[in-house]
Amino acid sequence: MAEGCIFCRIIVGEIPSDIVYQDKDFFAFKDINPQAPKHIIVIPRVHITSVAELTENERELMGGLIMLAKRLAEQEGIASTGYRLAINCGHEGGQVVPHLHLHLLGGRRLSDQLA
Ligand code: AMP
Ligand code: ZN
Repeated sequence: MAEGCIFCRIIVGEIPSDIVYQDKDFFAFKDINPQAPKHIIVIPRVHITSVAELTENERELMGGLIMLAKRLAEQEGIASTGYRLAINCGHEGGQVVPHLHLHLLGGRRLSDQLA
């Protein structure tokens, strides 16, 4: 757990969250400020600051993260209508929380604009 990291504190329950899923490697919860009818944050339990910090050691973990998002999209009933997975990295990428996370967004036709 990284000192002062909001998402690490959510994982250990120090900050309450609306938990969608958890297992030994991953944790998923509803975004507090949803940008779409379904907006779920999916994170690895291990504190990795961003995509920029990834090494070959995390290859399997990152595959698992995407496969989990796919499963959650099915669970949330948006797999057939479609959804967006987004990972912001660094300041200009729009990353605010420095614990690597994947946004699962869906439940309406999302903007064609990516940036
Ligand atoms: P990013 O801009 O990619 O770093 O995304 C951070 C996301 O975390 C934003 O969509 C926030 O709304 C969300 N967020 C921040 N704090 C919380 C919290 N306590 N519970 C749930 N989501 C949060
Ligand atoms: Zn963290």
